[in-house]
Amino acid sequence: TAKRLAGKTVVVTGASSGIGRSTAAEFARAAAPAGGLRLILTARRIDTLKEIAEELTKELGDKVKVLPVQLDVSDREAVRSFVGNLPEEWRDIDVLVNNAGLVKGVARAPEIAEEDIDVMFATNVTGLVHMTQAILPVFLKRGSDGGAGDIINIGSIAGLDPYPGGSIYCATKAAVRSFTESLRKELINTRVRVIEIDPGQVETEFSVVRFYGDKSKADAVYAGVNPLTPEDIAEVVVFAASRPENVVIANSLIFPQHQG
Ligand code: NDP
Repeated sequence: TAKRLAGKTVVVTGASSGIGRSTAAEFARAAAPAGGLRLILTARRIDTLKEIAEELTKELGDKVKVLPVQLDVSDREAVRSFVGNLPEEWRDIDVLVNNAGLVKGVARAPEIAEEDIDVMFATNVTGLVHMTQAILPVFLKRGSDGGAGDIINIGSIAGLDPYPGGSIYCATKAAVRSFTESLRKELINTRVRVIEIDPGQVETEFSVVRFYGDKSKADAVYAGVNPLTPEDIAEVVVFAASRPENVVIANSLIFPQHQG
């Protein structure tokens, strides 16, 4: 695993919290024994990203290089100029983890707030598509045989099994799934792997965001159940990225025992 990851440059969106944060750390730790990799941490909360970068550097020393970059994936211009604005030695990206995403509110379709609809699509769908469009050219330019790289999209069980009160979030994740499948087929004659990881319930800040910051409502979601940890998902993401290059883990659905 370490050898297959070492020397790579990995971009994680939504790396300031939850699954993205754990995924970044898992990549760093997995590659360290073989010399380490470069990690570009992106999210809106740049101070948090800087703290995470410091922690990883403290833990792994010169076995990881970390670059925190403030990036709102729903900001088209920022995404478009993302690669060009990186320092030269950070532009040769090998892995993109499209993880940034959110759910806002629990409401039946007629009552969903307009701004919640907009932010969920702009982040979960349009943001993911724009990130892919920004970074794919780097992959396609690599080598002489059609390019190489990994695009790993974080979908959700919600995209496969929609539930009442979550119609828009579920629709965004169904869109992620369709986009991912189409892209995989479009890239079949390249060495670019397109991977989707679909978590079930994971305890992160996700529910705090869903309930507009109400921590007690968020805590109630996880009371009495044994949800996944962000590490459970991070391990699968890194596993998928570290398979031999002809092996594609196209989809992986991961549940906590109580949910499946
Ligand atoms: P968290 O709320 O803990 O993390 C979400 C991350 O996304 C944060 O780092 C946040 O950073 C970032 N983010 C949100 N909006 C933007 C934006 N516009 N631009 C850039 N970054 C953004 O939730 P999770 O870790 O649980 O969620 C990660 C992914 O996993 C999401 O795509 C979610 O849909 C998916 N998922 C989660 C499940 C769960 O049960 N937790 C289940 C299934 C899927 P910042 O605020 O700093 O920008």
